[in-house]
Amino acid sequence: MSTTPTPGADPCAEPARSGLGIDALRRGVLDNLVCLQARTPGIATPQDWYMALAYSVRDRMLARWAATIQTYAARDLRVACYLSAEFLIGPQLGNNLINLGIEDNARAAMRALGQDLDELLALEEEPGLGNGGLGRLAACYLDSLATLEIPSVGYGIRYEFGIFNQVIRDGWQVEVTDLWLQNGNPWEIVRPNVNYYVSFGGRTEMWHDEQGRLRVRWLPARMVKGVACDTPMPGFRVNTCNTLRLWKSEAIESFDLQDFNAGDYYQAVQEKVISETLSKVLYPNDEPEAGKRLRLAQQYFFVSCSLQDMLRLLDLKGEPIARFADMFTAQLNDTHPAIAVAELMRLLVDERLLPWDEAWDITRRTLAYTNHTLLPEALETWGLPLFSRLLPRPLEIIYEINRRFIDEVRQTFPGDEARVARMSIIDEAGEKKVRMANLSTVGCHAVNGVAALHSTLLTQTVLRDFAQMWPERFHNVTNGVTPRRFMLLGNPGLARLLDETVGEGWVTDLTRLRKLEAHLDDPAFLEQWRAVKRANKAVLAERIRHVTNVIVDPDTLFDIQVKRIHEYKRQHLNALYIITLYQRLRRNLEQGSVPRCFIFGGKAAPGYTMAKLMIRLITGIAEVVNNDPVTEGRLKVVFYPDFNVKNAQCIYPAADLSEQISTAGKEASGTGNMKFMMNGALTIGTLDGANVEIREEVGDENFFLFGLTAEQVERVKREGYRPAHYVEGNAELREVLDLIAGGHFSRGDSQVFRPLVENLLHADPFLVLADYADYVACQARVSEAWTDAARWTRMSILNTARSGKFSSDRAIGEYCERIWNIDPVSIGLDRESAE
Ligand SMILES: *Cc1c(COP(=O)(O)O)cnc(C)c1O
Repeated sequence: MSTTPTPGADPCAEPARSGLGIDALRRGVLDNLVCLQARTPGIATPQDWYMALAYSVRDRMLARWAATIQTYAARDLRVACYLSAEFLIGPQLGNNLINLGIEDNARAAMRALGQDLDELLALEEEPGLGNGGLGRLAACYLDSLATLEIPSVGYGIRYEFGIFNQVIRDGWQVEVTDLWLQNGNPWEIVRPNVNYYVSFGGRTEMWHDEQGRLRVRWLPARMVKGVACDTPMPGFRVNTCNTLRLWKSEAIESFDLQDFNAGDYYQAVQEKVISETLSKVLYPNDEPEAGKRLRLAQQYFFVSCSLQDMLRLLDLKGEPIARFADMFTAQLNDTHPAIAVAELMRLLVDERLLPWDEAWDITRRTLAYTNHTLLPEALETWGLPLFSRLLPRPLEIIYEINRRFIDEVRQTFPGDEARVARMSIIDEAGEKKVRMANLSTVGCHAVNGVAALHSTLLTQTVLRDFAQMWPERFHNVTNGVTPRRFMLLGNPGLARLLDETVGEGWVTDLTRLRKLEAHLDDPAFLEQWRAVKRANKAVLAERIRHVTNVIVDPDTLFDIQVKRIHEYKRQHLNALYIITLYQRLRRNLEQGSVPRCFIFGGKAAPGYTMAKLMIRLITGIAEVVNNDPVTEGRLKVVFYPDFNVKNAQCIYPAADLSEQISTAGKEASGTGNMKFMMNGALTIGTLDGANVEIREEVGDENFFLFGLTAEQVERVKREGYRPAHYVEGNAELREVLDLIAGGHFSRGDSQVFRPLVENLLHADPFLVLADYADYVACQARVSEAWTDAARWTRMSILNTARSGKFSSDRAIGEYCERIWNIDPVSIGLDRESAE
């Protein structure tokens, strides 16, 4: 950076690249507009201004980022590597401004340049590199890791196309390609010199080296190069700026010269195309899809690059391989990175020539596994033929791991061959498969569930045998979400009120919100609280009008269910209630009825027919209800398209009621439930996932509970679920189902919803009809509570006040203490590197 002042410039002025003041920011933006966008203010488009501002914010992170990397490289410390196939990080500009503490100055600087910060924020493309909760969790954890000053790196895949954009056409979901990179990505720094080769296919052979050791050589059919693409992850008001390192695949050479010389141009280009396909697209399913070769290749690709990167950093530090587990720990976010168990063994045994036992000790001490699901159909497996063709050497290693593991099981439980078959990493029944959850559990020193109920059920169901063998290996770490993005950024009105009421410290110590309880009897405070919520609802109402043309009234109860569309999440149970309410209103039967606006949002996996039908049912109900003069002013239904992080940030703060109505035992934790709670919504929910802990924290008098418990669900299933039984005794339910089946919500077409109604009546594993009556009764209690505005407001305040446990800072603190054994490291900024 030049130290020579511009002639005539104020010698005391802050540098344009690092200064945090308004004038430095203004000059920095102007410089970047010219130097990076090649535009003068006179002809700059809003996109140019957005890019210039984003680069200026990035400039201000670079010294911190470099100092952070330098500190991790120089000091004897342990780095937490968070391995995840998905990072749903959301737009970066607003969050970075907040974490750097320069939002107000940036707003003023842009105003001085004739630009509106909010308009520029709205322009940012969202990196949709995840499907939903799992990917968003990884992003919240990166924010907390940096804020808590934990040495850490996020490792994943730089998908060229993230999750599809959802549009609604004729009431149906239509998927539109996500072109998030089309205008360039100002946050990313590509590091072509940080690259690794990853092998695929081919065969293995044994050989003896010069020392006479028996070795294995993998002769791959092809190799792909992974290139590091880094994104800075600044902590909140600390110097720490961690790295999200995503791998992009490239062909090793542009053309296979031999083919090219032989004149086969297309064959030569083919290899390149295949290699570049690897990081092309995110699989848009919440659950694994059977037998997708490319997906297994993606998993191996990013895991191998990440582990090779960790080994290179160890070498750079001059540390011996024996210290690997002291320098690194790697958390596997679900089984998507489970192949790390085999790949770390391969790198240590085949390439670093460690004896098996020593390599196994390092591998197990390094890796830890987070389980995210109890649904047996969502546990990842890979068919053996596919696996052996794609990854022949890792498979051999898995066989050796399994052979030794099974010996251990037989020693611990002699004569119990049924147990051996259940625990084996290879499923030998029918078509043989590799079970990734078993591989993870065997190869990791710690296994955790993501909410108390989930962790308990884990040790009683899918991982029961393992919990009996190694009880000390099992933990719970209840999920959390970052209050920086979901309160400070998404709900600035609330944040201001909280600052004034309990002081600013709540942002990094969310338990301080408890102090709100001292203000429950202050009518002025209740009034301010209501005003904040009212304003957030008005903002959402305006967006709903803009996007869907539906007019909703911010004074009605905003009843919101936003999350992936899934049968186990039971958006259709909510839909059945809306129809019930509609019928009652039409007959003037609803006593104490309160005007409600039901808002849905969420994507369905493109191949998940039932989920797409559930969307169609909601839009069909909206079409009828919103156009019926009888219910005008009393009932509105909205499907808000394209639920993503950007939309989420303004939806959660506008909610009065949070719908968390999954079949008990099916939702591992949920994190949407926590975001609603923090923003003062009341929950109607089942005893599932983190709902249990939310209710514990807020008190059962402030939570609308309904439905079967996980235990009751299992009992009903054991004894035989008979949906007809619930219809026979309930004329209202009968009528609702008849209306759907008769085409009332499908423009008279009685075929459309047939599969959905048939499913509810004959083949529903999620027991929708069993919970219907209790849900309807519980919604009546919600309505009743709403009619007492002061009571509702107090309950709303209590939800925020008691949400402290659900900060991702608490969750990351628990990972550090119980699983990773890592302490914070503060990053020093000497004056020179700070400028
Ligand atoms: C929080 C969040 C989710 C997860 O929601 P659940 O209600 O926990 O399923 C999914 N998508 C986005 C965009 C989110 O922000």
